[in-house]
Amino acid sequence: MPHLAEGIARFQREVFPAKAGLFARLATAHRPGTLFIGCSDARVVPELITQTDPGELFVVRTAGNLVPAHTPGTDGVTAAVEYAVAVLGVRDVIVCGHSACGAMTALAEGHDLTGAPAVAAWLRHADASLARTAAAGRHGDVAALVRENVTAQLANLATHPSVARALAEGAVRLHGWVFDIADGTVEELPTAARPSFAA
Ligand SMILES: [Zn+2]
Repeated sequence: MPHLAEGIARFQREVFPAKAGLFARLATAHRPGTLFIGCSDARVVPELITQTDPGELFVVRTAGNLVPAHTPGTDGVTAAVEYAVAVLGVRDVIVCGHSACGAMTALAEGHDLTGAPAVAAWLRHADASLARTAAAGRHGDVAALVRENVTAQLANLATHPSVARALAEGAVRLHGWVFDIADGTVEELPTAARPSFAA
């Protein structure tokens, strides 16, 4: 991976000096306005898609951009969501799915995941999305599952106490996006069907 070391050298030589003032401010302040929850997929780069600077996005990336519904236990996703919403006070939360998602493709097409048991277990968080897609007659339709899954993860987010409180106070807005890798577009999914998110 020598290109990574070369990248760091180029960053320090060409990029950092141009943003030295920004990094000087960020050295002692962390006040992102947005929590971006996306897929771990290497092709979906939040800061690139949104053309945002360091310090603007608090990012959580998981396989399939899944956010488990709240449970009494703790996990890394829950902690990151709570920190962003309750401590950092982000105003917007985005769940971003994407075209050709490996996780959604595996689910939609029923891939054999016996060799990746942790992946199989993790993807169970999309069971409801899978069921709704099938009920709508779209079984096997990856694009339909991607969209349904974004909507379902927004609902899961709202079960987290930190998010529920912020929604009730009108302190945060939830957004569902789908990024298309082939053409670079971002579709914002309608949220009007979820009145509890209207605040
Ligand atoms: Zn993905």
